[in-house]
Amino acid sequence: MTSLSDLPIRDDLRGTEPYGAPQLDVPVALNTNENPYGPSERLVKAIGEAAAEVAAGLNRYPDRDATALREDLAAFLDTDTPGAGLTAANVWAANGSNEIIQQILQAFGGPGRTALGFEPSYSMHPIITRVTATTWVNAHRDADFGIDPEAAVAAVERHRPDVVFLTSPNNPTGTALPPQVIEAVLAAAPGMVVVDEAYAEFRREGTPSALTLLPGNPRLIVTRTMSKAFAMAGTRLGYLAADPAVIDALLLVRLPYHLSAVTQAVARAAVAHGDELLATVDLLRRERDDLVAWLRREGLAAADSDANFVLFGTFPDRRRIWQGLLDRGVLIREVGPPEWLRVTVGTPDEMAAFRTALKEIL
Ligand code: PMP
Repeated sequence: MTSLSDLPIRDDLRGTEPYGAPQLDVPVALNTNENPYGPSERLVKAIGEAAAEVAAGLNRYPDRDATALREDLAAFLDTDTPGAGLTAANVWAANGSNEIIQQILQAFGGPGRTALGFEPSYSMHPIITRVTATTWVNAHRDADFGIDPEAAVAAVERHRPDVVFLTSPNNPTGTALPPQVIEAVLAAAPGMVVVDEAYAEFRREGTPSALTLLPGNPRLIVTRTMSKAFAMAGTRLGYLAADPAVIDALLLVRLPYHLSAVTQAVARAAVAHGDELLATVDLLRRERDDLVAWLRREGLAAADSDANFVLFGTFPDRRRIWQGLLDRGVLIREVGPPEWLRVTVGTPDEMAAFRTALKEIL
């Protein structure tokens, strides 16, 4: 049997691990921060019709620049953050925000270049960084999972990174960043600053999106996704907002026709039904706040969350808790600092199952 190490694989990939959130068939899946509410019958029908419409033309390549979808996404961002004044020229789309991040690193990272992030944070940032042969630098978050602006500026000045990642709300901690941190990093950074806002729609009132900082900041990129609040993880649609020149840079590295006609059509149908899809956000926010309060009442630590998941602990043997939950049909995620676990906010029934199982184990 041939093993991976027998192959002439790139030296810098030897010994690395693939991204590996376990995909298990369980009654209660609270492990990948999806929205637990699927599309309504009405939306299922609209998506089916949209896909059928493009099916007749699938012998042709799709619109390489996804113009209509980008127009729709720009209009959505305009309602999400009024006043940002974004048009299709400011928006770019790809297969999940992971592909967006990959394209950013292909254009602005690469051999001899550096990307810096503040861990614990989203594990794919360092993975995609390394896969694009970019050097990863970890600047740490504080004990409360926030980022101190002065420490962030010092890290940026010390490492002079080509790309900085700021995740807000952060995965896996749920921490939202005040705009002052982003502004301080933007002022100090010599290169691009990426604010990963995969969970932005779940943030608390009063925390502005980094979209508000785009005017006059051509080195700022704000990434978003339809995988989380938008309840469309299966569609694989991520997008960004930035200065149009940033999109000119990404056109140099994107594969031609990267976004299939089916993806574009389904995503457009979903954006057209955005009100319905995002209607569950308030419910999930309330469920999240209830969960944090319940965990604390049980004597556990729970990080403040502006997202649709909660980091909780602390457990000297977190594997035992994770396994105990799985044995009871509840799958959560073993991720983040060593003694912590992350649970996604599900439906009230799913959360009840989680609480019952956790109480039994404790
Ligand atoms: N950014 C963050 C912070 C995430 O947590 C995730 C998904 N877990 C992504 C980006 C990627 O999501 P997708 O590729 O589905 O858009």
